[in-house]
Amino acid sequence: MMIAVFGTGYVGTVTGTCFADLGNRVVCVDVDEARIARLRGGDPVIYEPGLKELLQKNLKAGRLEFTSEAGRAVDGADVVFICVGTPPRLNGEADLSYVQNVARTIGTHMRDYKVVVNKSTVPVGTYDLVRRAVRDAQEGRGIPFDVVSNPEFLREGAAVRDFQNPDRIVVGTDSERAKETLSKLYGPVARATRPVMFTTIPSAELIKYASNAMLATRISFMNELSHLCETVGADITDVAKGMGLDSRIGSRFLHAGCGYGGSCFPKDVKALAQLLEQQGLTSTLLQAVDYINERQKRSVVQKLKKFLPDLEGKTIAVWGLAFKPRTDDVREAPSVTVIEQLARAYAKVRAFDPEAIENGRRALAHLSGVEFVKDAYAAVEGADALVILTEWDEFREPDLGRMKEVMRAPIIVDGRNILVPREVQALGFMYASIGR
Ligand code: NAD
Repeated sequence: MMIAVFGTGYVGTVTGTCFADLGNRVVCVDVDEARIARLRGGDPVIYEPGLKELLQKNLKAGRLEFTSEAGRAVDGADVVFICVGTPPRLNGEADLSYVQNVARTIGTHMRDYKVVVNKSTVPVGTYDLVRRAVRDAQEGRGIPFDVVSNPEFLREGAAVRDFQNPDRIVVGTDSERAKETLSKLYGPVARATRPVMFTTIPSAELIKYASNAMLATRISFMNELSHLCETVGADITDVAKGMGLDSRIGSRFLHAGCGYGGSCFPKDVKALAQLLEQQGLTSTLLQAVDYINERQKRSVVQKLKKFLPDLEGKTIAVWGLAFKPRTDDVREAPSVTVIEQLARAYAKVRAFDPEAIENGRRALAHLSGVEFVKDAYAAVEGADALVILTEWDEFREPDLGRMKEVMRAPIIVDGRNILVPREVQALGFMYASIGR
């Protein structure tokens, strides 16, 4: 099949590359020309395990192309994917202007029937906005098309694997023709046990928000309990384990920590709350989920201040900038909130992350006193404390003896509960974690 993909971020690049790998002919479009140039040269721009190899393989095979010329991409395509950002506006509502721009571009350039697939995460009813934008941009040419909602569930850090082995593929459509096209397109990745699930368009749009909001709710629930654990002497990791062994609950997304981040959970929780309010309904639960998360990010510096009440002039090492391991994404990451708080308290920050230094440097460019180093041990050298904010595997078994020798003060605040309190404390560290 001939496919056009608009947006070459996490979702677009993975979608385009993986569809090309299945033998389709894919043209990916972006307005960011520097990004297109790097992609053409085989550099995926983002860090995502397995993506670079797959991208280079399909570029070489001539099945995958990157361009900033929208017209050519739309013209040759049977299916056009919209994979552009939907960032939050100040009131939490999703900004749909990028999606609308792409819809207008598609309408302007199309000359025959297309299936327009919206993969961006959008509020219920956006399909109508897209449909109108495509139709209006045709300026009365009356070319037929269908708009389909096909929300993306990939997890950053495992995006290629998730595309190839999806838990589910959800397609919202009211058109038999589009249904047939999407069944054929997804045939190679659908499984007998996990077929493509066809729904109405509003249901498909809501499934995405509801899924992310549920996962975020589980995290905030555990983070709320973590404070109780600290006051009554319980251990949140044991509580989570005990809960998770109940097959009705399950063990995933029950980890207390310094809060969720990324480009999806924070914005999708806020957008779903907004959607409920717009319909005259209440969003009490989702507002609490969001509030607890913001408070949780801020609890790290509060814990640090128990050891170091005055942070002015102190050097604080930070391990982990990415919002989660195996990604370079720092959008809405707890690290950004924590480092901003440290800088505001006139502390000096020395940060290390295995993949996210480049993005971290950009996100924190407005702050002074933040230094980025190439090695975890260089970060702690002469530091007054270490704060751990991302659970990268390489932070799980550090050489604590070496750290104790080089740090000015033996203080660790573990925002991801990855160290064993007994072991750290036995070496003379002052140690705080979350809910333990
Ligand atoms: P991103 O910010 O990484 O990438 C978006 C890209 O779209 C950018 O490269 C931008 O230049 C490009 N763009 C903007 N306007 C354009 C236009 N008119 N034409 C062509 N390109 C244009 O975004 P992302 O993380 O890939 O997310 C995209 C959507 O998918 C969002 O709605 C997001 O909520 C959703 N989503 C993201 C993830 C994830 O893990 N990142 C997972 C599931 C769903």
